[in-house]
Amino acid sequence: MATKYVFFFGNGKADGNATMKPELGGKGANLAEMTNIGLPVPAGFTISTEVCTYYYANDKKYPPELTTQVDEAMSAIEKAMGKKFGDTTNPLLVSCRSGARESMPGMMDTVLNIGLNDTTVQALAKASGNERFAWDSYRRFVQMYGDVVLGMKPEKKTDIDPFEELLEKKKHAAKVKFDNELSVQQLKELVQEFKDAVKKRTGKDFPTDPKQQVWGAVGAVFGSWMNDRAIVYRRTYGIPHEWGTAVNVQAMVFGNLGDDCATGVALTRDGALGTPGYCGDYLINAQGEDVVAGIRTPERIEETLAKAMPKAFAELDDIGKKLENHYKDVQDIEFTVERGKVYMLQTRNAKRTGFAAVRIAVDLVDEGKISEKDALSAKRLPADDLNQLLQPVFDKAGKDAAVKNGQGLTKGINAGPGAATGQIVFHADEAEQKYLANPSVELVLVRRETTPEDLRGMKVAKGILTAFGGASSHAALVSRQMGKVCVVGASDLEINYEAATVTVNGKTLKEGEYISIDGFTGEVFSGKVETKPSEIVQVLINKTMKAEDSPTYQRFAKLMSWADKHRTLKVRTNADTPKDATSAVAFGAEGIGLCRTEHMFFDHVDEFREMILASDLPTREKALAKLLPFQRDDFAGLFRAMNGRPVTIRLLDPPLHEFLPHDHNTQSALAAKLGIPVDYIAKRVHELHESNPMLGHRGCRLGIVFPEITAMQARAIFEAACIVKKEGIDVKPEVMIPLVGFITEFKDQEKTIREQAAKVFDEKKAKIDYLVGTMIEVPRACAAADQIAGGAEFFSFGTNDLTQTTLGMSRDDYGGFINYYKEHDIVPNDPFQTIDQDGVGSLMKVGVEKGRGQRKDLKIGICGEHGGDPASVMFCHKIGLDYVSCSPFRVPIARLAAAQIAVSSPR
Ligand code: ADP
Ligand code: MG
Ligand code: MG
Repeated sequence: MATKYVFFFGNGKADGNATMKPELGGKGANLAEMTNIGLPVPAGFTISTEVCTYYYANDKKYPPELTTQVDEAMSAIEKAMGKKFGDTTNPLLVSCRSGARESMPGMMDTVLNIGLNDTTVQALAKASGNERFAWDSYRRFVQMYGDVVLGMKPEKKTDIDPFEELLEKKKHAAKVKFDNELSVQQLKELVQEFKDAVKKRTGKDFPTDPKQQVWGAVGAVFGSWMNDRAIVYRRTYGIPHEWGTAVNVQAMVFGNLGDDCATGVALTRDGALGTPGYCGDYLINAQGEDVVAGIRTPERIEETLAKAMPKAFAELDDIGKKLENHYKDVQDIEFTVERGKVYMLQTRNAKRTGFAAVRIAVDLVDEGKISEKDALSAKRLPADDLNQLLQPVFDKAGKDAAVKNGQGLTKGINAGPGAATGQIVFHADEAEQKYLANPSVELVLVRRETTPEDLRGMKVAKGILTAFGGASSHAALVSRQMGKVCVVGASDLEINYEAATVTVNGKTLKEGEYISIDGFTGEVFSGKVETKPSEIVQVLINKTMKAEDSPTYQRFAKLMSWADKHRTLKVRTNADTPKDATSAVAFGAEGIGLCRTEHMFFDHVDEFREMILASDLPTREKALAKLLPFQRDDFAGLFRAMNGRPVTIRLLDPPLHEFLPHDHNTQSALAAKLGIPVDYIAKRVHELHESNPMLGHRGCRLGIVFPEITAMQARAIFEAACIVKKEGIDVKPEVMIPLVGFITEFKDQEKTIREQAAKVFDEKKAKIDYLVGTMIEVPRACAAADQIAGGAEFFSFGTNDLTQTTLGMSRDDYGGFINYYKEHDIVPNDPFQTIDQDGVGSLMKVGVEKGRGQRKDLKIGICGEHGGDPASVMFCHKIGLDYVSCSPFRVPIARLAAAQIAVSSPR
């Protein structure tokens, strides 16, 4: 049998359904699904993504069976709609729409009103009894077809669209402001002028054959899959290029037939904060993209539609409920009202900010629509988005002070919650350049509106502020997706791109000056505004807010309690101070996975330097004796803060040279302080210099050559443990030896540690259970993990160093090429952010298997930065680790990611 390439939907029945996104694309699959559940969808058909794949594999040709299948589906549309394509009395018009598996807003092209020519336009005018409408549709068709199919759309956004120019001229001559005020005669002239422009540019007449028009549009949609914008977009969002797009051909319904008609886009709940109820825009007597394109300022559905079109609003409300009940999630819809009746043109699960995601997930569980497990799905709430809820917000007091200072500028629509302060930048490419020059630069992108070309600049900005557009504008949509702080439609802004200024009510700000936007309220301020911690941090960490006063916190806590119920992976924290440890526990940490002891020396750096500078044992031991009480106090503080939870302490790790002063002045000062000659210091600094310190005398290599260092650290740990235990607090020390590659290295250090433990317990007449384990951070340790597990009681993957040593790529030096690598798809991710699963991950698997093969109950964790990265957390779950460890503020994210993977792939 011939392959089925074309899938029909119409009259309440569809060949496809929502599960067929890979073949039909998101739009096509959902048009089919909506048809099947009885919603009003104009009939149409979907050409599958397989055809796109075929098209690119076969020199841009179609499979031979396609023509017949399309012809048959076209007849089916005609039957369903009671009109004929190209007919001279009652012509059917269709749209041709792209639709990939994942939505790619504004990336690919759509053509509306296909099937019009000089004859059918007359027929349409007669059949509809509305000549103006017929010519308005024809005008739109020639313009869209010219732009999309005939390549008249300007390449650069600074260039002018020839059709827009003609339209502007016509409006000017007619002395009107909007396109819907042009007369029939003027529209007729415009169509002719458009066609002339096509002829002039392409040398060919505008195609009049409706069939030829359809195939032209289909080809343009497939072609748009490989345009630059679409390629960049896919790279940004990790969408594979192989997926391809589907094409949807669908009978037109008309929002431009008169004042009982409209077109609109909406979310069934607010996508910025998650508040229940429709949130969206509509325009009366308009078509398709008009709402998003900002041709006229749209009305807000939740504010005026119920009044303007009560019957349509009631229908829409009903449809919204049906959709949410069916899809079990908030929907992002496109609809058209034709003569008072609602037609559905699109639905998809809505993009939302982290705030909205938490609220919607919790509300849907409370409404009985989904289960707790469903609420945890990574699709609804990517774990990283929780981060948005932890970011600082503007203080009421700070904002009041700013207003008093005269910093208050205006108010727009709150489209992306959060607080953003940064320097004004007006162009996305400039934002990108500034960011590349200095990645810590804080920018707020200020624009009249944004377009898909601005994507890369939007990505690097802290916040986005636009003068035009509503909740469904491009800027709002993208910031929902990126979790950016965003204010749109601040219509008081007068932006002058040439002068690089923005003027608000008489006050002018220049590029580079600071501006602040509050994405919760839409407020805009000049200069900087004080921030305060997020409500969640106030409740959990600072205790400056009560849980019952913060609904945001309550929803967060509810969701986290579900996460804890379902996850199997434990979450620890990387912390070196009691303060960090306490915060981490408040965020849900179940232990310390990494305490970097060298961080504790920062407060006692001179004593530490004395130890490093010592060139003989007695001097070094003298210096170590001074450090011992400091270390003991620090460890005791950590044990107290962790209150019986396990604490993994890593022995001294970094190359010593790092801690010494390198310029003459500081060396002299140190010499004076320690009473030693400055020449001696200079000589030691020189001796300790290494050309590749990352691979030099560091990690356990220090403790092996200078066992007295390990002895002091071990003594400090066990003395602290005894002290805290005597206070009635349980302690679980886990001593971790860094950078082990040989079992002999481990044994050497283990011996020193256990000797000290025995001595201290003897002195203090105490006994405390403890573990001695190792970091696994060089490839040899993975390969020889069976031998090492013969000694080590636990493993902790140090994936920062393991990545450096496995890839032979230094984190201090990869800045020069990593961005190029990512842009050119050489690597899928930054390997220092997300575990390189094929390489480093394979070694980890070997380490786990060999380690557990030797010691069945070997406890295994990860303490590299990756422990707070959701994809890496999920990988750790899959390869059977016991815990991940990450910085305190990433703990909630790791907890959620661990739950998400436990729900989707239980182990
Ligand atoms: P995008 O993916 O960029 O949103 P769409 O294919 O959804 O592009 O189409 C753009 C606009 O045209 C949408 O607002 C949609 O509602 C409108 N549209 C598409 N097809 C039809 C149709 N058959 N009848 C009426 N409006 C349509
Ligand atoms: Mg759409
Ligand atoms: Mg390391």
